[in-house]
Amino acid sequence: MPVRELITVPDDTLRKISEPLNKVELNEKKLIKDLFETMYHHNGIGLAAVQVGIHKRIIVLDVSKKDDEKKPLCFINPVIKKISQKTSIYEEGCLSIPNTFIEIERPKICTISYVDQEGAKREMDCDGLLATCIQHEINHLDGKLIIDYLSKIKKDLIIKKLSKQKTSNRVVV
Ligand code: ZN
Repeated sequence: MPVRELITVPDDTLRKISEPLNKVELNEKKLIKDLFETMYHHNGIGLAAVQVGIHKRIIVLDVSKKDDEKKPLCFINPVIKKISQKTSIYEEGCLSIPNTFIEIERPKICTISYVDQEGAKREMDCDGLLATCIQHEINHLDGKLIIDYLSKIKKDLIIKKLSKQKTSNRVVV
């Protein structure tokens, strides 16, 4: 099952904190492959394992432009080590929150440490869209969503709207 089902708001699964990995084994490698397939299938530029219901600290990203060559990136146990004072603002969407875009200000540059798919420890400096995307995905690993950056009133409105959509799509056959 390469493309996995996405978990969406208000599912509490998204609020649970993901666990770090001790080892990258065959199971995790399969999961990473599925995460990429699921992300590309939904035209996303980032996906965390928790969004398919698996609480492991794994994220995948590809922020390459549409017609450019694909640049798949995978980060296991990512940790933000350094952030810049300078910030940037992007209008962010999320595969777990359909049809919702929120302007979020985040540090423009960040340095992260992580483990790669071969189990090696690495570091990377990230800038611009990549930095924003990584911070968004690390938020997922800690159970935090983009709607948490809004006021409570706005956040509740979005959750209400999405809950209704879920009910109206429900069919019994
Ligand atoms: Zn997201």
